[in-house]
Amino acid sequence: MIEIDGASGEGGGQILRSSLTLSMITGQPFRMTNIRANRPKPGLMRQHLVAVQAAAQICDGEIASAAVGAQTLEFRPGKIKGGEYQFAIGTAGSCTLVLQTLIPALLYADGPSTIHITGGTHNMMAPPAHFLQRSYGRVLADMGATLDIELQRFGFYPAGGGEIQARITPCAKLNVIELMESGERITGYAESFIAGVPVSVANRELECVGAGMGWNESQLFVRGLSNDQGPGNALLMTLEQRNVINVFSEFGEKMVRSETVARNLLTQVRRFIISGATVGEHLADQIMLPFALAGGGRFTTNTVTQHAKTNAAVIGQFLPVDISFDKKDSYYVCSVQ
Ligand code: ATP
Repeated sequence: MIEIDGASGEGGGQILRSSLTLSMITGQPFRMTNIRANRPKPGLMRQHLVAVQAAAQICDGEIASAAVGAQTLEFRPGKIKGGEYQFAIGTAGSCTLVLQTLIPALLYADGPSTIHITGGTHNMMAPPAHFLQRSYGRVLADMGATLDIELQRFGFYPAGGGEIQARITPCAKLNVIELMESGERITGYAESFIAGVPVSVANRELECVGAGMGWNESQLFVRGLSNDQGPGNALLMTLEQRNVINVFSEFGEKMVRSETVARNLLTQVRRFIISGATVGEHLADQIMLPFALAGGGRFTTNTVTQHAKTNAAVIGQFLPVDISFDKKDSYYVCSVQ
């Protein structure tokens, strides 16, 4: 039984999700205390509870206790089974974070799987569905995984109601890859998704992003959605390089000017571009786990967050790997070995 302190490092939900994933794959049970101790509302929230229940279902795992607000958990995994699964978060809690808990495990299942999850698809503080499709999904594909993620309906905070379906084919062994060079730029574009929000919001965001990036209209897209998927607004920028795709996002909010949303996105993207790194900060903390499963790999990233360091420590409790971050001029090299 691996003992995990949920208050360690960042003390957030990732400690739980990575533990679930790695417990399923390695077959090692764990006991976690102080779940999300450093968050304003500690303990399991709906998204985390669904991740626990979903993990238990796909591997016939045993859970000693799990309810919203619970701050301790014991999880004993069984054998990971492919199949058809449906999970509902029931709030705008992030579908993508639940999906990300399950995908690596289902690569080790005894057959293919289809997972359908309802909840939030474009939430602050979580990967938007497009990020999983384009950015995280591309890295897994390069590692040899066959994965298809379909966004069927958008879900924004607070209404939720989004739907994602993923098809995952088992993969005998993930390949070790290196992302040390981005390669040449294939394309760069911005999209403003709006549902139940005036189109002027999208136009103002894109005008500001276009001016800031020196991009023309062929790189700026208003993506109007049906009103019943909203209200919501997500502003995304996608940079596709030969070797890696990075997706950056910001979200429109009441009382926040469209230009402010756009400028926040520009700041993120500029910091990343100037650094010369291959992988943005969010992709960095998310690909360490598959890299560790492959048994190695390296990439460069512009910043090493507390989130990434905490995730590296959790991974080290389940797998015999060492994850290090070495500062080079304007970026860090993350080595998994
Ligand atoms: P809590 O922190 O409340 O426990 P949580 O369980 O929802 O919340 P975190 O542990 O903070 O979440 O993990 C959030 C994950 O979402 C991280 O992997 C982070 O990189 C990712 N993420 C956050 N914002 C973005 C974004 N804009 N694009 C891509 N990924 C993101």
